[in-house]
Amino acid sequence: QCSSGQCGGHDQPLQGVKNIIAVASGKGGVGKSTIAVNLAVSLAESGAKVGLIDADLYGPSIPTMFGLHSEKPEMSGKKIQPLEKYGVKLMSIGFLIETDTAVIWRGPMASSAIKQFITDVDWGELDYLVFDLPPGTGDIQLTLVQTVPVTGALIVTTPQDVALADVSKAVSMFHKVNVPILGLVENMSWYELPDGSRDYIFGQKGGERFAKAQGLSFLGAIPIERGVGEGSDSGVPYVIGKPNSTSAKALKATAMET
Ligand code: ADP
Repeated sequence: QCSSGQCGGHDQPLQGVKNIIAVASGKGGVGKSTIAVNLAVSLAESGAKVGLIDADLYGPSIPTMFGLHSEKPEMSGKKIQPLEKYGVKLMSIGFLIETDTAVIWRGPMASSAIKQFITDVDWGELDYLVFDLPPGTGDIQLTLVQTVPVTGALIVTTPQDVALADVSKAVSMFHKVNVPILGLVENMSWYELPDGSRDYIFGQKGGERFAKAQGLSFLGAIPIERGVGEGSDSGVPYVIGKPNSTSAKALKATAMET
């Protein structure tokens, strides 16, 4: 593993990248991609040079979330040029294959695809390269931490016990491979009712309690808002489409905490 020094040396990829951030979750559907996208866009808006790798090969969401449906990355020399939108350099398997085609790869193929995203794409100089990981603790996560020195992992969960049970596994995986955990983000924390009160649909403060119990930083709580999903579907990240909404402010604040 990189943290134990095995991936140092002259051939180390991503030499021009200052920080490598892995956005991870125990379960799917908790909003990991949404957080990764809004994090990347917020960092870019703050003036940083940012890249985003869609490492969720089996369920790539980046093309839809950035509204890039037909653009294809081009080669320049031996390297693939990432696409770019909202100031973020992007790579996704969804740019290379038809979006409705299922990726049915065994672990080694998925691992080599991730390695290619790291070494064969012209990332250049970046302040942050964000990885939107698949949910869980599989081959892709391991490949990432064994290929590059990950600066830290951001863990996304919803407040329910079922989600938190799987988050424990993700947390323990990052501990085992010596990747620091930057903190936990709780998504879908509440829904604001028309009278302004909050309905804690999935229970209250599950993420915060979990973070405290595990000794992790709690980076923020993001409410459920209709527009978050609509923004993702229409290719306009929420922090750009509706910057003054509660969720967008929470997403931005989380990015700055990170
Ligand atoms: P994951 O990457 O964990 O599978 P996604 O980011 O794809 O999750 O989110 C799952 C779905 O939930 C998407 O349709 C997304 O737009 C929606 N979603 C995520 N966060 C919120 C939120 N705070 N409010 C409303 N919808 C959300």
